[in-house]
Amino acid sequence: MRCLAVLILLLAHGAVQARLVSIVEPSRGLAFTQAAVIDHAQANQKALLDGARARGRLGCAAYCSQLAQVWRKLLPVIRFQQTRGAPVLRLVVVTEPDIQALSFPDGTVVISEVFIRRLQLAAPQLAFVLAHEAAHVLLQHERQTLTSMLALIPSRAQRTPQDVYTEMEFNYFAMADAMSVVFHHVELEADELGLQLAALAGYAPQAQLVFLERSLAQGSGQSMVSTHPDMSQRLRKLGALLPLARRLLVVGQQ
Ligand SMILES: [Zn+2]
Repeated sequence: MRCLAVLILLLAHGAVQARLVSIVEPSRGLAFTQAAVIDHAQANQKALLDGARARGRLGCAAYCSQLAQVWRKLLPVIRFQQTRGAPVLRLVVVTEPDIQALSFPDGTVVISEVFIRRLQLAAPQLAFVLAHEAAHVLLQHERQTLTSMLALIPSRAQRTPQDVYTEMEFNYFAMADAMSVVFHHVELEADELGLQLAALAGYAPQAQLVFLERSLAQGSGQSMVSTHPDMSQRLRKLGALLPLARRLLVVGQQ
């Protein structure tokens, strides 16, 4: 029987296991307010979740306890990186075949069980994927991306997030190259912070990356989505970070 329609797991006080360490630098010099960016993303989020609900694909079915366990370990580590008033992270599970994992600036992290099954993700890899998505929220990547897009638009007129996306659509070919550099940068940054957060939560860094290595070895080096850098580049960057992540694993358990 299908479990809860929406799996929203909040930290239970007293469940903290890992030693909490702050590793995130606050983002500075960003355009727009975080509230405006969150507000702009609401319509997309609503459409995605309403669609999943209408198709009977909202909620966990097969991986409820694994996801709950991983999320419970990650959440205190993620929360410790946040300042007062920052978005509260929540996990939403779907069984949509076209969704892998994504996050919204309001702190909603979405993962599909179809993706978990297809890639045979065990706990350390689930931790990496969820921490990667949480890293996008912590680092305000949507706001960073909008700030970069805004810089590419010549007019100095006041712009809303919607104006910037509209401009991006109209001038896609002019802006796409420059923006792919930004997209790749934020993905590599989320990979790096995700690896470290999951290590602090107690997941061995090498074990987190097994599914990325497997897909590269199988020749499916294609990344999760087209806006991501290719798998060999991601693994090269992550490999260079393994010594630090191993140290954080130890620190988190002290
Ligand atoms: Zn990402």
